[in-house]
Amino acid sequence: MAVPKRKTSPSRRNMRRSHDALKATINQDCPNCGELKLPHHVCGSCGYYDGREVVGSSDVA
Ligand SMILES: [Zn+2]
Repeated sequence: MAVPKRKTSPSRRNMRRSHDALKATINQDCPNCGELKLPHHVCGSCGYYDGREVVGSSDVA
């Protein structure tokens, strides 16, 4: 099994971890109900996307 020849220095370790931080989730207000929603996602509260209801529809028929 391949084994590292040298101990990773704190500097190297920290450089590797420089990309590991999680970004805060971006939220937008739903234009229909005003609830926070993810961009480019159907609103989880009212089911609207792009100005029309696409999920949890009440217009079945
Ligand atoms: Zn909504």
